[in-house]
Amino acid sequence: MTDGIVIAGGGLAAQRAAETLRRAGYADGLRMVCAEPHPPYDRPPLSKEVLTSERRGDSIRFRADGWYVENEVDLLLGVRAAVLWPDERVLHLSDGSALRYDRLLIATGARPRELPTLAGYRNVSTLSSLNDALALRDVLASTARLVIIGAGFVGLEVAASARQLGAEVTMIESAPAPLSNVLGPVGGWFTDLHRFHGVHVITSTTVTAVEGDDRFRLLKLASGQEIRADHVLVGVGVSPDLDWLAGSALPTSGVPVDAEGRSQAEAIFAAGDAALTFDPQLARHVAGSHWERAARQGTRAARAMLGLATGEPPLESFWSDQYGIRINYLGHAPAADAYAVDGDMDATDFQVTYTREGRPVAVLLVGRPRELPQARKLMTNGGSLELLARN
Ligand SMILES: Cc1cc2nc3c(=O)[nH]c(=O)nc-3n(C[C@H](O)[C@H](O)[C@H](O)COP(=O)(O)OP(=O)(O)OC[C@H]3O[C@@H](n4cnc5c(N)ncnc54)[C@H](O)[C@@H]3O)c2cc1C
Repeated sequence: MTDGIVIAGGGLAAQRAAETLRRAGYADGLRMVCAEPHPPYDRPPLSKEVLTSERRGDSIRFRADGWYVENEVDLLLGVRAAVLWPDERVLHLSDGSALRYDRLLIATGARPRELPTLAGYRNVSTLSSLNDALALRDVLASTARLVIIGAGFVGLEVAASARQLGAEVTMIESAPAPLSNVLGPVGGWFTDLHRFHGVHVITSTTVTAVEGDDRFRLLKLASGQEIRADHVLVGVGVSPDLDWLAGSALPTSGVPVDAEGRSQAEAIFAAGDAALTFDPQLARHVAGSHWERAARQGTRAARAMLGLATGEPPLESFWSDQYGIRINYLGHAPAADAYAVDGDMDATDFQVTYTREGRPVAVLLVGRPRELPQARKLMTNGGSLELLARN
């Protein structure tokens, strides 16, 4: 007798997998091992509405308690996947118990990277969970000066939310512009946007030293600048949250999977931020921390577990909201050798199409959510821009 399908992780990919399994008629045991004390919830609002409004934690839940009862999904809250024995098909949990699975989905997501220079200070935090967001909301209610280190999407969104709340915001980025590793020179547009809204954006520098006791007071930058602030949010990217796989023979740096979410280990699948998917454009397995990717991979892995068709793999895509502007991004711009801008960057109404040898490899839409279907068509079509224009 086994515990049926076990899902390690209780986020988006896990939730989608559970829903898909039950919808497809899977009727045996289904357990979700969730490290957090909260039932599965959606993360994008954490850097947006949860900070700027009194939005309660339960308003971002995927499903009410009744759904888990009706669908016989056994939610194990506040318990971590701790040790995996793949040969025995046994997952040991942090409470000392163990589950024997038929199939296992690894969906433990990613955790924020930390900066050693800032480790241990009480007024330094990261943003990944609901508890992090509620704590940051409290900080912003009483904090006048916020420093954000790292101008990735989460850092940019928190900057926008904190400005909306009236905080004084300084953003420090080691690259020449926000997102320049993803978007190239177009990243400079984000510098202009945030400066326009009053953010003090400092690029091409890093924090080299900190002064303070248990709370930092002063940051010293490689550029020679010194910054006094009340709180620092570190937003320098994420890494798959897989330390618990140590000793299992599966990699702790991300689980490579095929297009259906299968890992190389028997009966083990992975989805979402914990999984590395093969990108034909880049010709290698890549990590990703995107909502749509996690949602679709959770669904696909669940279908593959039941031997059902999964369809075409999804395009890489991401959205962000900053100062009321919707930003959409599809594909992989770093693979590009050219780009073209259509529209008015000053009016926050434009599209950037990235190409390699004339073929589209990525699209950035700013203030044009309605163009998303057309951009998807452009990317999935894979044809040249001239061909698309003629069609
Ligand atoms: C603040 C924030 C804002 C975001 N905004 C956007 C956005 O605007 N657009 C977009 O496309 N994407 C956004 N994302 C990214 C998107 O939310 C993630 O890509 C998505 O949630 C990944 O889903 P997942 O299921 O892989 O992981 P998660 O949703 O992170 O869920 C993983 C869960 O597993 C749990 N866990 C970890 N280790 C263990 C363990 N050992 N045992 C059991 N459970 C464990 C974690 O606590 C977590 O609850 C945002 C992310 C954050 C943090």
